Amino acid sequence: MAVLHNLGFPRIGLQRELKRALEAYWRGELDQSRLEQVGRELRERHWALQAEAGIQLLPVGDFSFYDHVLDMSCLLGVVPERFGAGDGAVDLDTYFRMARGRAPTGEDAVACELTKWFDTNYHYLVPELAPEQRFSLHADRLLGQIAEAQALGHRVKAVLLGPLTFLALAKPAVPGVDKLGFLDALLPVYGQLLERLRDGGVEWVQLDEPILVTELDRRWQQAFEHAYNRLQLPGLKRLLATYFDGLGDNLHLAASLPVDGLHIDVVRAPEQLEPVLDRLPGYKVLSLGVVDGRNVWRADLGALLDRLEPLAARLGERLWLAPSCSLLHVPVDAAAETALDPVLQAGLAFAVQKLDELRLLRRGLAEGREAIAAELAANREALSGLQRLRTGREDGRRRVERLDANASRRSLPYAARAPLQRAATALPLLPTTTIGSFPQTAEIRAARAAYRRGEIDAQEYTRRMQEAIAQAVREQEAIGLDVLVHGEAERNDMVEYFGEQLEGFACTANGWVQSYGSRCVKPPIIYADVSRPRPMTVAWTSHAQSLTDRPMKGMLTGPVTLLHWSFVRDDQPRSDTCRQLALALRDEVADLEAAGIRIIQIDAPAFREGLPLKRSKWAGYLQWAGECFRLAAGGADPATQIHTHMCYSEFNDIIDAIAALDADVITIETARSHLGLLDAFAEFAYPGEIGPGVWDIHSPRVPSVEEMVAAIESALRWLPAERLWVNPDCGLKTRDWSDVRPALANMVSAARIVRERLTGQAVAGSG
Ligand code: GLN
Ligand code: ZN
Repeated sequence: MAVLHNLGFPRIGLQRELKRALEAYWRGELDQSRLEQVGRELRERHWALQAEAGIQLLPVGDFSFYDHVLDMSCLLGVVPERFGAGDGAVDLDTYFRMARGRAPTGEDAVACELTKWFDTNYHYLVPELAPEQRFSLHADRLLGQIAEAQALGHRVKAVLLGPLTFLALAKPAVPGVDKLGFLDALLPVYGQLLERLRDGGVEWVQLDEPILVTELDRRWQQAFEHAYNRLQLPGLKRLLATYFDGLGDNLHLAASLPVDGLHIDVVRAPEQLEPVLDRLPGYKVLSLGVVDGRNVWRADLGALLDRLEPLAARLGERLWLAPSCSLLHVPVDAAAETALDPVLQAGLAFAVQKLDELRLLRRGLAEGREAIAAELAANREALSGLQRLRTGREDGRRRVERLDANASRRSLPYAARAPLQRAATALPLLPTTTIGSFPQTAEIRAARAAYRRGEIDAQEYTRRMQEAIAQAVREQEAIGLDVLVHGEAERNDMVEYFGEQLEGFACTANGWVQSYGSRCVKPPIIYADVSRPRPMTVAWTSHAQSLTDRPMKGMLTGPVTLLHWSFVRDDQPRSDTCRQLALALRDEVADLEAAGIRIIQIDAPAFREGLPLKRSKWAGYLQWAGECFRLAAGGADPATQIHTHMCYSEFNDIIDAIAALDADVITIETARSHLGLLDAFAEFAYPGEIGPGVWDIHSPRVPSVEEMVAAIESALRWLPAERLWVNPDCGLKTRDWSDVRPALANMVSAARIVRERLTGQAVAGSG
C-alpha cells in the first residue's frame, strides 16, 4: 500500500514561536540553552502532528534556526574565512553572524548574501566557495536531531540538499570559476555523511535536487551521473527529490540515476507522470507530490483518487505520496483562521490540512472510497463552496473579457509624453525623489496596533496617520527633495494593504510564511475575481498633496507584485488573475489623476522573481507580465508621469522586457552593482528616464556627498542628464529618521553640485 511521507514542515511555528525566540536571543534576552529548547519543542510538536496524520517517514533536517542552505554550508564546512572558523566547525553565534553579520557574541562581519530560493519568496544564504575550498563534515546537529526523532519513536527520513543543487546555488569567491571543479572534493564529505546516517540507523535519505527542473547543460547532466554513481552506499536508501516544475529534458537522467526512489511534482507538472512511469526502473520507489505545497487550496480528493487508484494497484508499496514540495511555503494551520468567511476557510488547506489530505488519500486507496465517504463528501462540499464564492463576483472577469487591444498602450510614445510631463511638473535637471516609504516609527506602529485592538477609533487612527504623513512632508521639504511622497505610514505591508481593500482578496490572521530567518510574510489570498469597490490610496495622497506645492508622487503596488506575493486561485491562469489586478489599479491611476496627482509610481519589485525556472518559458511570462503593467498604466494621460521601481539590477537578460513596460521613469537598485548595470544600459539604448539608486539603503552607513556625486557622475557616462533622476535604492520603511535625514540631505546636495556643474557647462558652451 502507498507509503506517506513529507518533504519538510514549516519551522517557524503556528504562533511564530521560533521568530520570537530567535529575536529574543539576538537581543540577549534568552540564553542559548533556552533557544535550543524552543527548537526541540517545535520539532517535537511538528513531528507529532505529522505522525498523527499518518505520515510514515518523517523528515528530519528540515528544521533550521535560520536557513537550511546555511545549515548545509555549515554541515559541509563551507565557512568563509572572515568568520574565523579555522577548522570549518561553527558554533551557533558564528552561524548567526554568517546569516546576519552579527550575533550576541563575537565580532561583526559582512553577512553572507541572501537571495531567492528558486521561484519562491523564501530567501537562502548563498554558500561562498573559496578558491582552495576544503570540505569537512560537521554533522553533530543533524545527527542529534535524528537521535531526537528516533527517541520519540519516529521512523526517520533524513533531508539533505543534494550536492549538485548545493553547488548550483553557491557562489565562487573568484567570479567565473567553474563550480563543477569543486565536485570531486565535495563528494567524499557527502559520502561520509551518508555513512554516518546509515550507522545512526537511518533507512532513507532524501536528497533535494530541485535544479533538475531547470535547463541543465550536458556537463551538469554528466556531473549528476558521476555524483550519484559515487554516492551509492549499501544499507542506506536514497530518494532523489525534485519539485517546483517538471523534469523536462532531465527526465531520462533523473529516472535512471542509481538511487532508490524519485520524487516528482505532479501539481506543477502533471504531464511528467506518464513519461516518468515509462522510464522508471521497476525497483525504484515513485514518490508523487500530489497536494500543492506552494498554495493554500484544498485538493480535489475524488479527482486524485481517480488518478491514483490504478497506480496504487500497479505499484503497491513502490508508490509514495507526499506534498509537491516542502510545506515550508505554506502557513501552518487553516483551523486558526476563524475570522474568515467559513466557506472560504473550509476551502483552505495549510500544512496541517494538507497532511490530513494525504492521510485520507491513503485510506481511500487502502480501504476503498466507502471508508472515507463522509470525508469525500465534505471535500466536495468545500470545493463547491469555493466555486460558489467565486461566482457572482465577476466584475473583474467581465472587464478583462471586454478589453480593447489598445488598453495596454499609452496614447503617445515616451518621446512625445516627456515634454508634456516636463511642462506639467516643472522639475529641475536631475530631479531628486525617494522610493515611497519613510520610517515606520514606533508611533505609527503603536497607532496601528491600538486601532487593531479597538483601543482607538477609525477617526483617531486617520488623524494619527495624517500626522505621520504631514511630518514626512515637512521633512522632505526641509531636505529640499523635488518630488515628494506621502511615506506609506498607513501601509503595514505593500501587498496586504491593497489586499485588504480589493474584492476577491482575503487576509488571514495567522497565515505566516517564512521569508528569511525570523522574517515572515502573511500573503493575502486571492480567491475570486478581483475588483476595486472604491479608491484605495487617493485620500492619503491628496491629503499629502494639499500640504505642499511640490509634486506628490502617488504610490501603488503593481499587478505582478500583488500576484507574486499573494496565494493565487488556481482555477484559472495566473495571467488572467493578473489582468484583473491590473484593471483595478488602472482605476486607481485614473482616480489619482482626477485628484490632481501628476506623478504615479507603480512598484514592480517582484517582476523578475516571477520568471519561470526554465528559460524557454521566459518569453511567455514576460509577455503577459509586461502587458499587465501597461494595462495598469496605459490609461494615464500623456502628461502624467508613470514611475516604476525594481529592487534588483540583474537586468541584462530582460532589459528589452523592462523597456517594453514603457514607464516614463524607472528607479532601480544599483548602489551595490554599478558596473553590472552599466553593461545592460550601454548595450541597450534604454528610451526612458532612469533613477539608479545612489544610496544603498540596506547598508547601515550614511553615504557622503562626494560618494553620491561620484555615483551620479558615473551614471552620466551612460545616460544623458535630461533622463537621469537621483534617488535612494529602495524604500526607507526599515530605516530610522536619524540616518534618513542626513543621507537624503547629502543626496540633495550631491544632485545640486552636479546640476550646477552641468548648467555651468551649458552656459559656458553656449557662449
Ligand atoms: N514603494 C515601496 C517602498 O518604498 C517599494 C518597496 C520595494 O521596492 N520593495 O517601501
Ligand atoms: Zn525596492
